[in-house]
Amino acid sequence: ATPAATMVGTTIGAKHGVLFKGGDVLERVEDVDTVVFDKTGTLTTGEMSLTDVVALDRTAADGGAVAQDEAGADAESSEEYVLRMAASAERGSEHPLGDAIVQGARDRGVELADPSEFENAPGKGVRATVDGREVLVGNRGFLDDNGVDTSAGRRELERLESEGKTAMLVAVSGELVGLVADADTVKDTAKRAVSDLRERGTDVWMLTGDNERTARAVAEEVGIDPANVRAGVLPDEKASAVEDIQQSGNAMMVGDGVNDAPALAAASVGTAIGSGTDVAIEAADVTLMRDDPLDVVRAVRISEGTLAKIR
Ligand code: ADP
Ligand code: MG
Repeated sequence: ATPAATMVGTTIGAKHGVLFKGGDVLERVEDVDTVVFDKTGTLTTGEMSLTDVVALDRTAADGGAVAQDEAGADAESSEEYVLRMAASAERGSEHPLGDAIVQGARDRGVELADPSEFENAPGKGVRATVDGREVLVGNRGFLDDNGVDTSAGRRELERLESEGKTAMLVAVSGELVGLVADADTVKDTAKRAVSDLRERGTDVWMLTGDNERTARAVAEEVGIDPANVRAGVLPDEKASAVEDIQQSGNAMMVGDGVNDAPALAAASVGTAIGSGTDVAIEAADVTLMRDDPLDVVRAVRISEGTLAKIR
């Protein structure tokens, strides 16, 4: 675009909180034929809260969930025990999933212990020592990799995930004791943004570190084709996942988190949304000041409108 057209597009964008960075960004936005959304914090609010705590009956052969025992009858298979161990372990975490577990425990009046030897496995979970015992909280792959038999939690895990929740398994001293689940809500305008993009002929994808079942439940809610969901993607795999999806070379990646920066950089257009971290904004070509997925559509329309006028 001519410098004048760039100026016009940039000015109109700024009025709507859509910041285009650099001269050729308008053209690249206009050429976008694929939009890849990060799930958490982009399509959903990212404001997680604890929704479920499940204690597993470790004596039952079928591994079914147990109803709450009489107080004290079996302290180590109570929901309170599961929550106390998980939340104590997550105290060292800065992840929204961990924050929600800690907050949820506090809201329920659970007294937390001070963890030691906290260790974060990005995109997987946390490990910490609580009351002298090793506690693991995380996804199935993480516990499997640590030699925990997760089969007793499988049914409950699948149930929670199919409700669109992020369920995490909790193990103490190498033994599965229960599950905790967090959820956030889909943003009001996410569905409209997806349908507007699809109407324009844009291919819409979702990329997430969350598991397949949860991701599909959310995709269904916003109208993204389940075939266009890439789940269980580790933070350092997000960039190559974008390159994979970006067959034509014209994809826009929309994300908000620290983990999203390499993926934003890998896409033809990186778009940071809302309260996005500085790292994400730094890596982005477009920054959407408001937390609204519909501004992705607005960015595309502004670029098309501005460039159409000068042709
Ligand atoms: P997202 O792409 O949704 O931001 P992440 O890549 O951060 O997800 O994490 C992927 C998965 O790893 C989560 O869905 C969860 O199962 C697990 N996980 C990550 N951090 C934690 C944590 N602090 N506690 C428990 N599980 C975690
Ligand atoms: Mg994220």
